[in-house]
Amino acid sequence: METLIAALRSLLPHDSVITDPVRLRTYECDGLTYHRATPGVVVLPGTAEQVARVVRLCNEFGVPFVARGSGTGLSGGALPREDGVLIVTSKMRAILEIDLGNRRAVVEPGVTNLAITEAVRDRGHYYAPDPSSQQICSIGGNVAENSGGAHCLKYGFTVNHVEACEIVTPDGDLVTLDRMDPGYDLLGAFVGSEGTLGIATKITVRLCRAPESVTTVLAAFESIEQGGEAVSAIIGAGIVPAAIEMMDALAIEAAEAAVACAYPEGAGAVLIVELDGPAAEVERQFAQLREICSDAFELRVAADPAERAAIWKGRKSAFAAVGRISPAYIVQDGVVPRTSLPGVLAAIDRLSAEHRIKVANVFHAGDGNLHPLVLFDDAEPGAGERAEVVSGAILDLCIEHGGSITGEHGVGVDKSRYMPRMFSEDDLDTMQLVRCAFDPRGLANPGKVFPTPRLCGEVPGVRKGVHPLVESGKAEQF
Ligand SMILES: Cc1cc2nc3c(=O)[nH]c(=O)nc-3n(C[C@H](O)[C@H](O)[C@H](O)COP(=O)(O)OP(=O)(O)OC[C@H]3O[C@@H](n4cnc5c(N)ncnc54)[C@H](O)[C@@H]3O)c2cc1C
Repeated sequence: METLIAALRSLLPHDSVITDPVRLRTYECDGLTYHRATPGVVVLPGTAEQVARVVRLCNEFGVPFVARGSGTGLSGGALPREDGVLIVTSKMRAILEIDLGNRRAVVEPGVTNLAITEAVRDRGHYYAPDPSSQQICSIGGNVAENSGGAHCLKYGFTVNHVEACEIVTPDGDLVTLDRMDPGYDLLGAFVGSEGTLGIATKITVRLCRAPESVTTVLAAFESIEQGGEAVSAIIGAGIVPAAIEMMDALAIEAAEAAVACAYPEGAGAVLIVELDGPAAEVERQFAQLREICSDAFELRVAADPAERAAIWKGRKSAFAAVGRISPAYIVQDGVVPRTSLPGVLAAIDRLSAEHRIKVANVFHAGDGNLHPLVLFDDAEPGAGERAEVVSGAILDLCIEHGGSITGEHGVGVDKSRYMPRMFSEDDLDTMQLVRCAFDPRGLANPGKVFPTPRLCGEVPGVRKGVHPLVESGKAEQF
């Protein structure tokens, strides 16, 4: 490691190589703080060429590397390696080009999600995927996680808004993956690959025209079941709102304590529904929505952008807000078919009672993406373990109902152990073949996504067993 550090210092400016133990601790975890490791060394390259040179050095020394954007990930994806290099993109924050004619922007990976919208807002455009962390999370991290957000129900996830990526491959080449390239959709494979297929150094994103009209509605229901029924009825009526978000009573209590969002008192659940598009269409959909939400005891319609922001404030702050009502919590992320929402929520309630662990529910209700916040007191012996049990059981529920172990936060280090519950051995082996095609030495973010050391992705140079596709001659092992 010492020789590698000396080589890194000769490549990068002095302040871009961090070895001071106290400063290294800044990078020991992402937003999932119970997985921690002090990185061997942290580098902050300022250009794509510098990233490529660092990766080439890692290859020369056979040392693993992990990319990090803003470190807001919630699955331990940017958890560093004690024996490796953490490559942080926070100095790469330039918006390189805005091309409204073609509705695109070209940005460096450390640019924050919201900065893209801020750069084009006054010209009537915006970048659609909007994770609640959008003020700080990086677009490179969004690409790696295929991040979602409240408005992804109508507009699609990050993968639908990335047109090209310049990447540093795991062996240090700079290449561009473009949506328009014929052949395999390698850009599609890269988006959501959680830093295991290389490092994005330049990203071309799609920009959307701001809609003519936006109506934001807060509907307060006595019970979460009523809220869930309204969600199904809205989608069943053929309305695709820009967003439908739901929060239960405990999540509302937390948001109230944190940001005084003044949601209606006594609500068992609130729905935030945002309609956007041509004014006539929004007006028609709003009339339908009002009828569908006739069970709501209060329907609040934002009269202006300030009221709209006030409605969103509670929802956007919900994760951090639970810190006001619980000393510790796990943010879970699972998906169920929309129609299973009431049954799964009832089962979560039962788990909560059985294990004496409170669960606050916040979710992107329109696409069935649950974010149960599993609350516990880390000073109470055994509480953390019980919270872990509840958290894992929620994922089991999602799988049983035909859903997924993650909707948008990724697998990372946290959920790799759940992958075999969702995928067969053959599925996982096939994913590893893709990984090996990009990263045969397994140096790019090892230990993430996949459950155990398997194939060459996790054990450099060694492959366990022969994959059936290789054996049958249908695929080639590199
Ligand atoms: C309060 C809060 C709210 C959140 N809300 C949402 C939400 O609504 N929707 C949602 O989807 N997520 C949400 N998240 C999770 C998180 O913000 C996203 O996953 C985000 O995309 C991570 O970006 P980052 O820059 O912080 O990435 P990091 O945490 O630094 O890294 C995440 C992963 O990306 C990889 N990576 C980072 N940069 C690159 C790069 N340039 N090239 C290749 N790989 C890279 C890392 O290796 C790691 O695997 C939330 C998090 C918090 C703390």
